[in-house]
This record gives sequence, C-alpha cells and structure tokens, in this order.
Amino acid sequence: MKVLCLGKLPSPLQERLKTEAKIESVTYVDRAAPLTDTEITAALSGMDIVLSEPQDNLSENILSRCQALRMVAQRAVGYDNVDLEYCNRSGILLSNTPGVLDNATADLAFSLLLCAARRIVEADRYVRAGLWHGFESDLLLGREISGKTLGIVGLGRIGEAMARRAWGFGLKIIYCRSAHKNSGTTEIELDEKDRRLAQSLGARRVSMEDLLKESDFISLHCPLKKETTNLIGAAELALMKNGCILVNTARGKVVEEKALVEAVTKGKIIAALDVFAQEPTVPPPLLNSPNTVLAPHIGSATDETRFAMAELAVNAVLQVLQGGLPANLVNPQIFESAVNKL
Ligand code: NAP
Repeated sequence: MKVLCLGKLPSPLQERLKTEAKIESVTYVDRAAPLTDTEITAALSGMDIVLSEPQDNLSENILSRCQALRMVAQRAVGYDNVDLEYCNRSGILLSNTPGVLDNATADLAFSLLLCAARRIVEADRYVRAGLWHGFESDLLLGREISGKTLGIVGLGRIGEAMARRAWGFGLKIIYCRSAHKNSGTTEIELDEKDRRLAQSLGARRVSMEDLLKESDFISLHCPLKKETTNLIGAAELALMKNGCILVNTARGKVVEEKALVEAVTKGKIIAALDVFAQEPTVPPPLLNSPNTVLAPHIGSATDETRFAMAELAVNAVLQVLQGGLPANLVNPQIFESAVNKL
C-alpha cells in the first residue's frame, strides 16, 4: 500500500498511519506553492491513496494518469479541486472534512467583516507609519455593524456559524440556499431548517435578488460547483447597495474576479477576501485598492482546526483500509465496489 501525503501532517498522525494501518510507504511532499501538473502527476505515480488539500489539482487529466489510485482523502470540506465525476466513474473513493472547521472559518469571515467595516488594517498601518498625533473625533470613521443587514449566500454548516455570530452582534440576517430550491423571486418553499433559523436567529430566507438588494454586508458560504461558478458577476454586483461589504471565504471562483476588480476599483463595494480565483495570484488592482482587506486562504487556519481536519482525513484512510465506511465519504455509493480493490 503506497500513500502520498501532500502537505505537512502532524507527527502523531504520521505515527498512526505507520502503526495502525501498517503502511510502510508514506511519501510526504511538502510544497509552499501549488505543484505543477507534471509535478503532481509524478508524485501520484503508483500511489494507492493520496491525502490532498485545496491547492492540489486532481482534475480528470491528472487522475486518469494515476491508474493505481483508489482513494483521495481531501483535507478540506470543499473538494472542487477533485473531479468527483471521474472518481465515481473510476472507483476512486473521496473523503472530505465537514463540520470540524465551521467555527474557525466563520470566525475568519466575521473578522474580515469587522476589519472592513471598522478599517482595522488601515488603522494598524496608520499607527505603524507614525501618522497618529492624537485623538480626533473624525479619525478613521467606520461603519456600525449592529442593526445592519447581513446577507448570507449558502446557509450550511459554516453559513449557520456565521449567522450565529451575526445574531450576537445584533445584525439582521437574511440568506439564500440552493438555487434549485430558490430560483427567481417567486415564492420560496421553507423547510424545517428555515423555520428553525427563523425561530432561533430571526433569520429570513429570501431570493438571491432580494438578498443582493437588501444587504449592507454579504458573506459567501456556498461550495464551488458548476452552478456556483461566477454566481456573483457584474449583474449581481450592480444590484448590491453602494458600499456593500462583500466577504468571501468560500472559493474565489464563486465571484467573477474581473467584475469584482471593477466593482472594487470604482468604489461600488468593499471586498474582504480570503480566497481568489487563481490562488496564490491576487490581481494587482485588489492589492493596491483601499477598498479591500485580503487574507491568504486561512479560513480554517487554527492549530486545533487544522489538526482536526488532518485527523479526520487520516481516520477516513484507516477506516477504509480496515474495510469500514467513513461517515465523511463524499461518494459512499461506490464504496462496496471500490473497497474490494484496495
Ligand atoms: P455546506 O454545509 O454543504 O453548506 C453549503 C450551503 O451552500 C448550503 O446551505 C447549500 O444550500 C448552499 N448552496 C449550494 N448551492 C447554492 C447556490 N447555488 N446558491 C446559494 N446557496 C447554495 O458547506 P460548508 O461546510 O458550510 O462549506 C461551505 C464552503 O466553504 C466549502 O465548500 C468550501 O468551499 C468553503 N470553505 C472555505 C474555507 C477557507 O479556508 N476559506 C474553509 C472551509 C470551507 P442547501 O442548504 O439548500 O443545501
């Protein structure tokens, strides 16, 4: 059994792979920058299992050249870097890490919102530059948070954690969920979850159009898939209130980056971003704009959460090797046929 681990794995988990699964050959490939297609194909050659992260391109083009591969244990909840359809067709199991990163990611999203609204990064630079000469009543005035409306796109695990934080800060919460249940501006059919959220947080489910028009701040928490690629484009940005703060901790490609750059440059919106369309590339206008707060994809980056994510991925590998079905398998429907080939 050959296992490839892309990125660092805490040593207690390395030990567990060695002792509990008796895997003799675990290859660790650490990388600061994303591997090129040639590099990742070479690293995957002959491997049965890979532990991957969002920056690892596991497209059909790459996977089809790795005939031995039987399992991808993705150390993230999002798996848009992995071709799931190809995995299903080719009997490759895919696991992810849902649930353990909700609080950390919502904390970052809310921090980005506060940073943008209260100009915290700008204030830090101001003090460090020696520009502060004394209290002024109109120095670095920001935007009040409480009483405003936060629109959440994607009220899943992380979206709900964001809503709880917003509730604590006295924000009004509106949200939208899957497009198929929420298309157009016609009547929305509420389900049990919507009723629970209305009762506990006063959150109101609305259409995407109403969300774009009514929100003072918008935070994106949907997964990246075909239907959500460029979900926020020029037309959606145009519907937003002037000065709306758009927080993106979902995936860069949920927003059409060219349109985003234009909206930021024109001062239509303020963007607080943890994710970008072509990471680690950040378009220069976003780097140079006073209307942005930028972070390097650190939504889940706390000691505790990153360990929990790695642990969940290792647990899934160990479980599969022992013939068990992990709860965090994305494609359990192929488990029976795939597990026999391991
Ligand atoms: P989740 O529990 O599956 O929730 C996803 C939510 O998005 C659901 O409410 C879903 O609607 C909604 N949704 C799906 N398609 C939609 C659409 N077309 N329009 C509007 N809403 C839509 O996922 P999660 O665990 O919260 O994670 C969300 C995403 O966050 C991940 O996929 C990942 O890309 C990103 N993430 C980023 C970081 C980071 O470091 N920045 C960390 C963790 C996660 P329904 O409720 O109707 O199904």
